[in-house]
Amino acid sequence: MIESSRVLRGRPEPARLEVTQRAPGGWTPTLFIRGTLALHTLGLLMLALEPALWPWVLGGLAANHVVIGVVVPFPRNALIGANITRLPPDAVARNEIALTFDDGPDPAVTPHVLDLLDAHAMRATFFCIAQNALAHPELVREIVRRGHHVENHSHGHSVGFSLYGYARLSREIDTAQVALYSIANRAPRFFRAPAGIRSPWLDPILQRRGLRYISWTRRGFDAVECDPQRVLLRLTRNLAGGDVLLLHDGGTAQTRDGRPVVLEVLPALLGYMRRCGLKSVTLSDGFLQDNQLVNCKIPQASPGALTTSASAWTGPARSSTRTP
Ligand SMILES: [Zn+2]
Repeated sequence: MIESSRVLRGRPEPARLEVTQRAPGGWTPTLFIRGTLALHTLGLLMLALEPALWPWVLGGLAANHVVIGVVVPFPRNALIGANITRLPPDAVARNEIALTFDDGPDPAVTPHVLDLLDAHAMRATFFCIAQNALAHPELVREIVRRGHHVENHSHGHSVGFSLYGYARLSREIDTAQVALYSIANRAPRFFRAPAGIRSPWLDPILQRRGLRYISWTRRGFDAVECDPQRVLLRLTRNLAGGDVLLLHDGGTAQTRDGRPVVLEVLPALLGYMRRCGLKSVTLSDGFLQDNQLVNCKIPQASPGALTTSASAWTGPARSSTRTP
């Protein structure tokens, strides 16, 4: 059994909020993006004054885009946009962490996740894919009824999400925002990109809507890893207050005997957290003292944009056995 003292030794120090503070409605580019914009302006100016310098301009811009291309695949980078990775210091002082579940809801997994969270009196944040939420609105409402929060994980979770332009990205986020608001009766305040991969276009879109981007401090790769023990080890190694954990209640990997890995991992993870005195809270509760979490904008719903289908799910599951 892993000792709690090992956990406390690994507490990040000092904990700090890794996010650019700004008011909803505006856009505060990161230093790197400001440099990128200045470089492009300078390049255009050089071409206008001395066209023969085009090889230098082209070389400079190409180098800039290579850097962006290298950075984009790293989900926790803050170079191309504000990116929260952990809870703020006051949450750390309260020994709080944030369990987050992506890609749901899934009727075969989400009800069991909710039961396990209830059994340990933990609250979590569910980054729902809006299409899944529309297919299973009862599940979304059950998530909310049990005291958890639903946040925006895009409308369709496309693999090409990071390649979308400004207009398409805006539509993807707005459509999901409207759908999740209509079901959960609460506007999502956080956004997480599919696979955590985002482009420089995303930051201004989120800031102008008052949405905040969040990644994680640790993930178990439970969407691809079939060995629950390995997933558990990745999540608990040096686990400490302020950590944001990424798990999946949709698209989770399965063990050799066909059980969702996340349901194998959760009982041990939650028990370990309790023994260590760590409590999971929703992201909004973790950032309770942060007055930036207000006034998220809900775009106007276009007629017919929201369609819900009847779900066969009739209530919370009573055991952790997977529904056939
Ligand atoms: Zn995802």
